[in-house]
Amino acid sequence: MAATTPGMVCAHHHLYSALARGMPAPPKSPTDFQEILEQVWWRLDTALDLEMIRWSAMLGALEALEQGTTGIVDHHESPSAIEGSLDAIADACAEVVVRVVAAYGVTDRHGADGARRGLEENRRFLASGGRGLVGIHASFTCSDDTLQAAAGLAEDFGVGVHVHVAEGPGDADAPQRLAGLTRDGWLLAHGVHLRDDHGLRGTVLHNPRSNLNNAVGYADPRRFDNPVALGTDGIGGNVVEEFRLAYVLHRSVDVTATPETAWAWLETGRDLVPEARDDEVTWSYDPMDPWHVAFTPGIRPVEVRVGGEVVLSEGRATRVDADEVRAKAAEQAARLHARL
Ligand SMILES: [Zn+2]
Repeated sequence: MAATTPGMVCAHHHLYSALARGMPAPPKSPTDFQEILEQVWWRLDTALDLEMIRWSAMLGALEALEQGTTGIVDHHESPSAIEGSLDAIADACAEVVVRVVAAYGVTDRHGADGARRGLEENRRFLASGGRGLVGIHASFTCSDDTLQAAAGLAEDFGVGVHVHVAEGPGDADAPQRLAGLTRDGWLLAHGVHLRDDHGLRGTVLHNPRSNLNNAVGYADPRRFDNPVALGTDGIGGNVVEEFRLAYVLHRSVDVTATPETAWAWLETGRDLVPEARDDEVTWSYDPMDPWHVAFTPGIRPVEVRVGGEVVLSEGRATRVDADEVRAKAAEQAARLHARL
């Protein structure tokens, strides 16, 4: 028996982190979220070059497709290889045939010139017709001028902004920093340390596995009036698994919780990549309803159609050679890890 659903959407991804797995341990063990950023992610993203970005995106897109995810909302940073990075990601996703909404996360971590070049990459990509949003890393790594410039660029192109918001306690003043800038098209990743009445507009992107892994706490996104969608924050592209975790975490604070709530968050993700609703995923399990899926680990797609084309058949990608993608990505991961 098999059931068919629309494509799944990962509403917050970092395709570049596909090469992070197996990276060498940091020189000293991080003791809080800020140190996780400084000692893991900000060392990793600075070491990325365009070839690594290309193969991390190929691997990340492949792994997403293999889990029935046909739409990815990506948030990218590579301070040593900014220009062209969004094209590398978009081209890789197009080869695998996964829809992607790209954004470069602007930040002042590397000075005003770094922020300017990040803004320019967003502008260049959008102006060339790329599908994207304007990215901001997070308000706590940006000056007010940079936040305003990013918001203004997004207005110019009629798109939203994809930004990390109050993921850790160090960004708890995000509502004040972003006050007056946010719009309904903005994507607010995490919101763990947002107060219930934060006043920001946009969709809150809930990433429960990442939040647990970073020990930042439970966002409990039902607290907010905003729409909520589910992301992986770069830990693969399997949002069905993220749904299962979102449900049990919700249940852990409310024994009356049902899986329908987290299932609706999957549906909100499709508002961000609406064409995913026309994609068709045929699963190894029937029925694909929230109560079944929540308690049935291991469900996998058998066939995926994107825009009518079969791009996964009997669990294998049709447009790319999955073994080759994994081999090339492993080569680039080795290069990357050697730089750390
Ligand atoms: Zn993130």
